[in-house]
Amino acid sequence: MFTTEQWQAGKKIIETLIQHGYEAVFVGGAVRDFVRHKIANDIDIATSALPSEVKFIFKRTVDLGLAHGTVLVIENHVPIEVTTFRTEGEYTDHRRPSDVKFVLSLEEDLKRRDFTMNALAMTANFHLIDLFDGQRDLHNGIIRTVGEPTDRFKEDALRMLRAVRFTAQLGFSIDSLTLDAIKLCSNDLAYVSVERLTAELEKMWLSKHLGKGMSYLGQSNLAKHLPGDFQFEDARWKYLGNPQNVLVCWSFLCLLQEIPNGSDLATIFKLSNELKQQINHLVNATQIRCERLFTIDDLYHFEENILVQAELLSRVLCSDSQQIPVELIVQRKQSLPIQSFRELVISGQDVMEWLNKPGGPWLKDMLSQIEHAVLHQKVANNATKLKEWIMNESNSEV
Ligand code: ATP
Ligand code: MG
Repeated sequence: MFTTEQWQAGKKIIETLIQHGYEAVFVGGAVRDFVRHKIANDIDIATSALPSEVKFIFKRTVDLGLAHGTVLVIENHVPIEVTTFRTEGEYTDHRRPSDVKFVLSLEEDLKRRDFTMNALAMTANFHLIDLFDGQRDLHNGIIRTVGEPTDRFKEDALRMLRAVRFTAQLGFSIDSLTLDAIKLCSNDLAYVSVERLTAELEKMWLSKHLGKGMSYLGQSNLAKHLPGDFQFEDARWKYLGNPQNVLVCWSFLCLLQEIPNGSDLATIFKLSNELKQQINHLVNATQIRCERLFTIDDLYHFEENILVQAELLSRVLCSDSQQIPVELIVQRKQSLPIQSFRELVISGQDVMEWLNKPGGPWLKDMLSQIEHAVLHQKVANNATKLKEWIMNESNSEV
């Protein structure tokens, strides 16, 4: 694990800072993941050097928010965030602090971190600095705030949802005092921006212990304070398994509502238009699939991924529907005569020439008749056959 390029680059940066007389250590999620023998997302370093000093020491740096003390140092092509030891200034609105103060001690820096497992630090020689029993909590799978939980959640309400998100990612449990404090402060979730809430929810959607996370979201009362009046609490999350798929989870959430409306959900959580469209398709396809088997038109109309996910969602949401193996659905879709309008071998121009008629609204109807006939195998997708069919059998009066 120490041998990955990232850790080696981090080690080099720490050693360089120490040679220049500063303190420097690994901190945050990377140390947590290191102790758990998991590959870290990104490696962070904390140092007593000020941002200007970090920039002076290293040749290749990028400013990443100097006010917050973060400089990106590029070492051997690996970018690593180096942040000056800091405490966070006054919290005036239950969100991010209005300012940060640089401090001289690592202890002060670790004290402002959210959970004991995230407040571990590690030297360049991989010795742990554990001021808040983070190792014990990691070992026992417990999420516990550093310090008094109510105070910490009052400072920054997002931490409550981070606790729940970590249960989903790591399969851990929330310490009972920490959980009680979340219940008490759950109202404050209203202070957090939708973008940050959505980012946390999407991290949950990609997690390996989704059922556990969703159960905590309900138990902690946070579900009730998320934007919109969506019903998040539902025993069926546990039967969904771990799709680790953002589209599937948003769509599932939507389908749990009395009147599913993908567009409302997407607007309230500020999802992209592309995701909104996909959610609408998946919700629609699942509703169809709960009523009946997919028809040829459904197989043609929906993308393969939507059909497959709709089949899987229907198994959780409408248990009385007959299960169809997803491979069979894929195979049926792939064996349709055409997959899209573009695959028709003739064009509107051909049709106008054959019927000797100028273009007009009739042409669009004619082309969709042709598309339908080919799809339902009334005529082959072949120019001669299509010409014959258009001349003889089509409703050319449209
Ligand atoms: P991930 O694997 O999602 O990156 P992480 O623990 O690294 O998890 P980050 O959001 O990258 O999470 O934050 C890095 C570190 O900064 C955390 O480990 C924690 O020590 C601290 N931190 C992040 N957000 C907060 C917060 N809202 N309050 C206090 N400390 C925080
Ligand atoms: Mg991180």
